[in-house]
Amino acid sequence: MGKLSLILFGPPGSGKGTQAKLLKQSLGIAHISTGDMLRERVASGDTLGREVSGIMQSGGLVPDETVNRLVEDRIQQPDCEKGFILDGFPRTVSQARLLEGFLEGKGLRPLVIHLEVDYNVIIARISGRRQCPTCGNVYSAKANAPDGSLHCDYDGTTLVTRPDDREEVVRERLRAYDQQTAPVLQFLKETGVTVWDVRGDGDSPLVIARGLEALIRREREKWAGGRNGLGGAV
Ligand code: ADP
Repeated sequence: MGKLSLILFGPPGSGKGTQAKLLKQSLGIAHISTGDMLRERVASGDTLGREVSGIMQSGGLVPDETVNRLVEDRIQQPDCEKGFILDGFPRTVSQARLLEGFLEGKGLRPLVIHLEVDYNVIIARISGRRQCPTCGNVYSAKANAPDGSLHCDYDGTTLVTRPDDREEVVRERLRAYDQQTAPVLQFLKETGVTVWDVRGDGDSPLVIARGLEALIRREREKWAGGRNGLGGAV
């Protein structure tokens, strides 16, 4: 089966990161999260990190040039040989153009999954989540647990609230999504890419992941058989 280039698309808090981590395990391919990559740079305090930290904390988008450069480097690393899951990229039409050129050059076409979640659900979800600052794992905070008492199951680190998970910043991130990211869906459709709309709420993350795996398997088999007449690896 060909190399898989999977794009997980959707508003902040739609579960892209959670699904990407589950699919990375079951599909055995690389997980590229631009949000995680940028947060690592902020934590390291290097020049790029210092440049982008204010933008991220206010809920805006980091300039395309910066993100495109990071992704171009990352996508060519050896662990992406078998395929990759893009989580949080492309987020603007300019980023989508860069990706389109890259994939075309490699004879690949993306499989795009759009996770749809109601914005009220998103705000409730994000304001209740905590993250491990060491390994990045995300948890839903229990409403009655005192702040700071939650620890990561993997490494015991005290969980924190992401600085951009405050409600007013979440609203700004949703605004950025509506204005700059949602048009990417239209762009992808215009370039002939099929976008699969999948509900990102209602079921548990594991059930959603099983559904996505079935969808991906079906599409890959179809493409491998060339039944849609387009050929090319997914
Ligand atoms: P979410 O999808 O929940 O908003 P991410 O971790 O993907 O979270 O992104 C966090 C922040 O990182 C974004 O609000 C934005 O500031 C920045 N960021 C991540 N990916 C991109 C991107 N592709 N282009 C521009 N900014 C990005």
